Amino acid sequence: MIFILLGPPGSGKGTAAKNMVREWGIPQISTGDILRMNVKENTDLGKKAESFMNEGDLVPDNLILEMVKDRLSRDDCQKGFIFDGFPRTITQANGLEEILESLDVKLTAVLEITAPYDIIKKRIAGRRTCSNEQCQAIYNIYFFPPKEENKCDKCHNSIIQRSDETEEIVTYRLEVYEEKTLPLINYYKNKGFVKSYSNISTSKKLHEDIKRDFS
Ligand code: AMP
Repeated sequence: MIFILLGPPGSGKGTAAKNMVREWGIPQISTGDILRMNVKENTDLGKKAESFMNEGDLVPDNLILEMVKDRLSRDDCQKGFIFDGFPRTITQANGLEEILESLDVKLTAVLEITAPYDIIKKRIAGRRTCSNEQCQAIYNIYFFPPKEENKCDKCHNSIIQRSDETEEIVTYRLEVYEEKTLPLINYYKNKGFVKSYSNISTSKKLHEDIKRDFS
C-alpha cells in the first residue's frame, strides 16, 4: 500500500496519516517531520533547509528527493508507506515516479484532504506547543486552549507558537500551496489516482471514510 496525502497545511494530513499507520502498520513519511528533526540536530540538511522553512517557502526539490530516497531504503518500507507532505511540486512528483519505478512498486492512491481556509488558519495560527522538550503538549487557543492563559496544563511551562505558524506565514504557506502544490491534484487526476475527502468534522470520521475505501 503506497499512499500520498495531498492537501494544504492544516487540512489534517498528519493526523490522517497517524490513523492509517495504526490501521495498516505501514510507516508515515512526513518530509516536514524529517526536516524539523534535521534542523533540531543541526545536520547539513537541517542547516540548508532552515531558512526556507522559517519563511514558509519550499525546501529545494533536489534536497527533498535525496531525503525521500534515503528514507525509502529503510526496512520498514517493505510493506508500503504513507507520504504526508510529499510530493509538493511537479518536479517532486516526477522524481517520485522514477523512484517508485526503480523500486518496482506502484502507487495505490492519492488522498486529497481539504478544509476551508478560515478553519485551516485557526488550526495552524492557533496552535501552541509546550516549551518543555520533555512534555511538548499541543494546544489550540481557539479549539482547546489551556486552562491558564499561555501555560501548559500538564507541566505549567509556557506554551509557544512555532515560528512558521504565525498568521502571516500561514497565509503565505497557503499561497505557496496554491501555486506549487495544487497543480498536483490535476497531475494525479489525469492518472486516475485521486480520491477526495473533506475534513471538516472529526479526524475519526475522516479515518472511517478512508478505511471504508481501502480496507
Ligand atoms: P509541513 O510540516 O509538511 O507543513 O512542512 C513544514 C515545512 O517544511 C514546509 O513549509 C516546507 O518549508 C518544508 N517542507 C516539508 N515538506 C516539503 C516538501 N515535500 N518539499 C519542500 N519543502 C517541504
